[in-house]
Amino acid sequence: MSDDCIFCSIVDGDIPARTVHETDDVLAFLDANPLAPGHALVIPKTHAERLGDLDPDLAGAVFDAVAAIAPEIEAAVDADGANVGINDGEAAGQEVPHVHVHVVPRFDGDGGAP
Ligand code: 5GP
Ligand code: ZN
Repeated sequence: MSDDCIFCSIVDGDIPARTVHETDDVLAFLDANPLAPGHALVIPKTHAERLGDLDPDLAGAVFDAVAAIAPEIEAAVDADGANVGINDGEAAGQEVPHVHVHVVPRFDGDGGAP
């Protein structure tokens, strides 16, 4: 837990979020400013700022959750695919300093990657 981390606050229930998947180690919830319907974020419940800070077992648990929910989210919003990605570091566009994987549903003909 990091006191001033938005995503830790979501894990702790102090900031509301629409949860789509939860395990002991991982939480997935809908993005507050979705790039597409069903845009979800998958995070480790333990605070880690960058991918390199993440315990490898936890990284595995995060990826397992991504693999499990991406097809479910696609089906839920009738998407044709999904962009799955991490902005790792400020230079890469990371705004929230708690590792998160974006799952962005994509639709045939929706025009270009986000
Ligand atoms: P980044 O640019 O760090 O890769 O992405 C951060 C993502 O977190 C953005 O897509 C943004 O919309 C989302 N986000 C930021 N604050 C909140 C929040 O309080 N709740 C939720 N559900 N998403 C958030
Ligand atoms: Zn955090």
